[in-house]
Amino acid sequence: MTTPALSLIKSDLPEKWQEILADLITDPKELLDFLELDEADNPFSCKAITQFPLIVPRPFAARIEKGNWNDPLLLQVWPDLAEEASDPLRSTDPLQELNFNNEPGLLHKYRGRVLLTAAPHCAIHCRYCFRRHFDYDANTPGRARWTEALDYIAQDRTIEEVILSGGDPLAAADGYLQWLLNELDSIFHLRTVRIHTRLPIVIPQRVTTELRAILKNLRCQVVIVVHSNHRNELDNRVFKALSDLADDGHVLLNQSVLLKGVNDNAASLIALNKALFSQRVLPYYLHLPDAVTGTGHFDVSDAKGRQLIDELRNQLPGYLVPTLVREESGKQSKTRIA
Ligand SMILES: *Cc1c(COP(=O)(O)O)cnc(C)c1O
Ligand code: SF4
Repeated sequence: MTTPALSLIKSDLPEKWQEILADLITDPKELLDFLELDEADNPFSCKAITQFPLIVPRPFAARIEKGNWNDPLLLQVWPDLAEEASDPLRSTDPLQELNFNNEPGLLHKYRGRVLLTAAPHCAIHCRYCFRRHFDYDANTPGRARWTEALDYIAQDRTIEEVILSGGDPLAAADGYLQWLLNELDSIFHLRTVRIHTRLPIVIPQRVTTELRAILKNLRCQVVIVVHSNHRNELDNRVFKALSDLADDGHVLLNQSVLLKGVNDNAASLIALNKALFSQRVLPYYLHLPDAVTGTGHFDVSDAKGRQLIDELRNQLPGYLVPTLVREESGKQSKTRIA
């Protein structure tokens, strides 16, 4: 296995994240050309990319091994024909998020914390995503329409933490992010702002001096939950982004999704968690995939998940073992599986 961290970062990539975000790979044929793969060996689903387009940022594509259909990064973004499989047990809204949509852009399911869908888009489209059917257009208010959500938070003193999710909040521009974070920061009963993001992994160039200044200036404690599923997603540029954020004093956590063929073996999860820890990132949740239409080919059973956690416990210090969870609608928290 090659170690991406040791390979050089492709020098022809721009350093400005806005340029990278404006030049995403969206054509499956372009991706395959770049990866030296033949479409005839594994045709993509037109139906799937009509519903949820292919999006791969170039710094992420650069970490995919050429000529390897089973590459764990490629599997996460490839619109496989298997997505067309129909399954009556799957739904487009398995978590019934629409029921908890108290105000536009705001989900209040658990005590003490609310989730804001702060940005409508992502820098990458992960095929297993449980929000792949989510109506972001209806749920990402512009500045004016955030008033209702901000009032809701200001009026409920039991809310101590706001989670910015998405889409990906760091896919939004600095000006907007700074505005929203400052609005939240001025609500005095809030103690913590948590940002759930895949950007520092897929486009580490996003962690700029400007972004760092915005986060550092907040009164609230900042928790950044990155999302990485495989060791190969982490190269030296990602390491720098993570250690910059750690240097700024933020709490850094990682959540992963347990995905068949991608990371459903102990060696892979151990390598991932050790590499993240080298940059002061601790594991948080390991999610079993949700029963979302079009994602059945990633399914891992509960029993397999438990067995993997046992293996991790036998080989790692306790703080490097993530909590295996599933999200179930109507529960007070995520459901612990192991
Ligand atoms: C997952 C989630 C949270 C956060 O839960 P934690 O267990 O604190 O990580 C909060 N709100 C919603 C709607 C969620 O889905
Ligand atoms: S970055 Fe997160 S929200 Fe966006 S597609 Fe991937 S898993 Fe879904």
